[in-house]
Amino acid sequence: MPHDVLTRLIEESRERSALPLSEVTLHAPVRPRKNVFCVGRNYQDHAAEGARTFGRELKIREVPEFFSKAVTAIADPAATLKFQSSLSREYDWEGELGVIIGQPGRDIAEKDALEHVFGYTCINDITARNLQRAHGQWFKGKSLDQSCPIGPWIVTSDEIGDPQQLAIEVQVNGDVKQRASTASMIFPVARIVAELSRGMTLDPADVIATGTPAGVGFARTPPEYLQNGDEVEVKIERIGTLRNTIAIA
Ligand code: MG
Repeated sequence: MPHDVLTRLIEESRERSALPLSEVTLHAPVRPRKNVFCVGRNYQDHAAEGARTFGRELKIREVPEFFSKAVTAIADPAATLKFQSSLSREYDWEGELGVIIGQPGRDIAEKDALEHVFGYTCINDITARNLQRAHGQWFKGKSLDQSCPIGPWIVTSDEIGDPQQLAIEVQVNGDVKQRASTASMIFPVARIVAELSRGMTLDPADVIATGTPAGVGFARTPPEYLQNGDEVEVKIERIGTLRNTIAIA
């Protein structure tokens, strides 16, 4: 086939397949086979607000604090998140940089770790605080259905460059609740991937939520939690905005 004919066919096919964002419904850009890996208290100011709220001494960890969210908690980027008032009245926001693994590996060296990252996205690690406290381990309070909205898409590593230079912000109904830079992470992405992979295989499509900065609801005076009808946004520089409406019944 002549080159110009081929070029025209490719262009026509692109035009046919391109749709305005307003005309499509985006789904979660990844559904891992495993639970979503999460890092707790990975920003100094968030660790400090938690310690202050509970009257505890602030401890600096030598390794990341890992926990997970059930994979069934994943929700689409524009989904209305439906929660039950009978389970909790303390649904709280946690905006986080999400890391998606591309290259599998085990015992990954920190210097090689970013080569295993396929890309980045926004995650809201929504937490039912009463359940987080009641069950001893965080898993239950972090794993309710739809408590892990993710997206709106994945931006590949080559387009992000340094994941430690991204502004991150959470707004609830347009009010800024969290504003920070990923430069403030205690354990940067490369260290998280290295530590998590020690003796434990990471697979393509594994997702890691890298922790939230200060400004969550439980640590506010008085505490603030998500209410029925609220719009919560997680915005990360070079990635985009994850925007969900909350429905509590
Ligand atoms: Mg979190």
